[in-house]
Amino acid sequence: MSASKKIKLEEKTSVCGFIQHVSPIKTSRTNNKYFNATVQVQRDTFKKVACFDVMKHSTLVEASQARTPLKLTDVQIVPSRLDSAKTEVLVNYKSRVEVSRQLSFSYQKSTEDDHDSAGEKFKTLKEVQNTPEFNKVAVEVKILSAKEVSVQIVRELPIQKQEVIVGDSTATMKLTLWDEMVTKLEIGKSYRLNQLSTRLFQNVKTITATKATSIESIDDLVNCLQAPEDNDVIEKEGKITQVGLVMHFSCEMCKGKVALPDDDSKFIRCPTCKMKMAKQTLQKSMNGTLCFSYGNQKVKLSIFSSTLFTMCIANHLSVDNAENIEDFLLSNSFRVAYSNETKNVQNIVHLTNVAGVNQ
Ligand SMILES: [Zn+2]
Repeated sequence: MSASKKIKLEEKTSVCGFIQHVSPIKTSRTNNKYFNATVQVQRDTFKKVACFDVMKHSTLVEASQARTPLKLTDVQIVPSRLDSAKTEVLVNYKSRVEVSRQLSFSYQKSTEDDHDSAGEKFKTLKEVQNTPEFNKVAVEVKILSAKEVSVQIVRELPIQKQEVIVGDSTATMKLTLWDEMVTKLEIGKSYRLNQLSTRLFQNVKTITATKATSIESIDDLVNCLQAPEDNDVIEKEGKITQVGLVMHFSCEMCKGKVALPDDDSKFIRCPTCKMKMAKQTLQKSMNGTLCFSYGNQKVKLSIFSSTLFTMCIANHLSVDNAENIEDFLLSNSFRVAYSNETKNVQNIVHLTNVAGVNQ
């Protein structure tokens, strides 16, 4: 860029319009705090705003919510960092923010492309918690903690699953990652995650990655809430004295339960949605109850598919035969982690498989 052009671009100017989509406060790689927004400057023209004076955050949030027309004075128009064909409005501590007199155009919410390179509006986690199940959402979050990677069987194939806790300044939430996305996110780093889907599990709203989910590193989010403490988990070494496991099959279309007939027919009809399908497309799950005994304690626990399948794969056990898995559980010692509140097994490790165990 030539010097003359640069000077011209950095001339102080003023902008009038409606502020929209004010982001949370972020920290840049050069350790400056800032936030983004969009400003509607014409009936259907929107510009990105980068504000490096975080004292203006609450004013802009309020103006955005109240749809108050603003005049931003002593701002700079610079080429956009995301798209050099576009310009961006730079606001700093020298810029002034005032309520504008009547504008010649009325408020119009910017379309998704206008305020976001990824074409998707992002929500705060508080907003996500109030979003119904099975809705697509984009979020900007920090990874607060991560659980161990586990395995689930979908269409006969093991797929990796990992639960992480994400946070922003409004809430913390559980996010489930699948396959290649597992271990891609680092604890303590901030990301923009597009195309997640909301779920409701045991009355708690969670988010899950989908096939379309994309990950973008972003500047460090500040004022994130802390991950809730996981002091509910008890981890002990001991023996399983009784166990009962049941295998279930469910329809991929409607999630309804399907009883598997003993014959060798290739296809089966779902009793719920009445669709016919190949047997191997059914989703397999297994759960059950076990008595775990350690020291002179005995506790009755529930165990579910992902925990069981993870253990099976770690021990080269077939996941098709509940009977064999039960025998394996009764014949060995295990380290079991379970929730004291729900009495659900969270992780079960065959003790001779653990490196460095001195027994
Ligand atoms: Zn069905």
